[in-house]
Amino acid sequence: MCLLGTFQFLLPAISLIMASAQDICNHEPKTNTCNIVPCGLPGSNGLPGRDGNQGSKGEKEDPGQRGMIGPPGKAGPNGIKGEEGPLGPRGLKGDKGEIQELISLKAQMTALQEEIRILQAFINKYRKVMILSGIRTVGEKWFVVATPEGTFEEGKKLCSQNGAPLAVPQNARENGALQELAKQFGKNIYLGISDERTEGKFQNQNGQTVSYTNWASGEPNGGRKENCVQFYINGQWNDKHCEEKWLIVCELEAVP
Ligand code: CA
Repeated sequence: MCLLGTFQFLLPAISLIMASAQDICNHEPKTNTCNIVPCGLPGSNGLPGRDGNQGSKGEKEDPGQRGMIGPPGKAGPNGIKGEEGPLGPRGLKGDKGEIQELISLKAQMTALQEEIRILQAFINKYRKVMILSGIRTVGEKWFVVATPEGTFEEGKKLCSQNGAPLAVPQNARENGALQELAKQFGKNIYLGISDERTEGKFQNQNGQTVSYTNWASGEPNGGRKENCVQFYINGQWNDKHCEEKWLIVCELEAVP
C-alpha cells in the first residue's frame, strides 16, 4: 500500500520534468544543450498561410451626433418672372410735393402776369377815352369838363349836381393839367374862386382863401366889378365879371 502511493506520486513528477525539458529547448536554442532531450537546429520561417474565411458582417452602430450648420452656399440663378398680381386697394391721397407747389405757383404767376398785361392795356385805352372826353388826372384829382359853355353860376350848379366843385388848381402841376383842357377845347375856363364876399380876397366855394395863384401881369385889377376868375388858354389868371360863357370844368377827388 505504501509502495503504490509512492508510485502514484512519481508519475506526475516525471511528466513535469519532461515538460520542463521541452520548454528549455524552445527558449534556449543557443546553448544546444539539453539535460534530458537533445535539441536540433532552428528551422527557417515557413510560407504564409492561406487566407482565412471571410468574417461575419459587423453589427450596425448608432449614428453619431448632428454636426454644426455649414456656411450658406452660392446664390442660385434668377427664377422665372412670376405673373402680375391683382390690383391692390386705392391708397390715401398724398400731400403735394414742394416741386409740384412751385410748378403750381409759377403757373399762377404766369396767369397773373397775363391778367396784368390785359388790365394795363385796358387802362391805357380808358385813359385815351378820358382825355378825348375832357378828363385829366393829376395826382389824386380829376378835372372833368361838364359842358363847353356856361356862366359862373351855371357851372357851380352843374358841378354840385354831381357832388363836385368847380376846378381850382392848387399848384403848378394842377394848373398845367387844367391848361391842357383849355387848349383842347380852345376856351377860357371859370375857376371855382371869387372875391365877391371880400374884395381882393379870393376864396373857394368852401370859403377857404386860396394859397396858390397864377395871375397874369397886372391882375387882379377889376375891383368890385370883377369878382370871378378867368383861366386863360395860356394858363394865367384874370379877374373878370361872371356873366360870360366859358368852359365849365369840375374837379373830383379820386379818393373822397
Ligand atoms: Ca381883371
